Amino acid sequence: MFRIGHGYDVHKLVEGRKLILGGVDIPHNVGLLGHSDADVLIHAVMDAMLGALALGDIGRHFPDTAEEYKGADSMKLLERVTNICRESGYIIGNIDATVIAQAPKLAPHIETMRHNIAQVCGCDISQISVKATTEEKLGFTGEKLGISAHAVALMIKDEQP
Ligand code: ZN
Repeated sequence: MFRIGHGYDVHKLVEGRKLILGGVDIPHNVGLLGHSDADVLIHAVMDAMLGALALGDIGRHFPDTAEEYKGADSMKLLERVTNICRESGYIIGNIDATVIAQAPKLAPHIETMRHNIAQVCGCDISQISVKATTEEKLGFTGEKLGISAHAVALMIKDEQP
């Protein structure tokens, strides 16, 4: 039994915030604004996993009005989403995600992002794909106003009892 889900997220780039993507603190002059650590990649991944199982979205599970999620480490939330999926009887088949950012260059950090996600989700790094692209200086990502991320997740029924 397979289930597929899609996730999409956007966060605004502002001064005085850290840029955290895939659990990696990336040195940059601006960072992502959000109630949590604003890890746009992890937010898209979680929405894809929850979407696959028709369990709503992260806004429902971790409301941005809740004080407990202020400055939250999104990797911790990903661990919780992984557990929610396991409780529903599903494990990750594979995840494919794309981060859309004009700057900085993300290539040096991609392997660490994949490693971080695989570790928290309890799967092999070969099951986690992270890619990065620009939008050729077009639109809000091109103008460096924000960063967006897309993800798809294939969830597989866990045969383990
Ligand atoms: Zn988000």
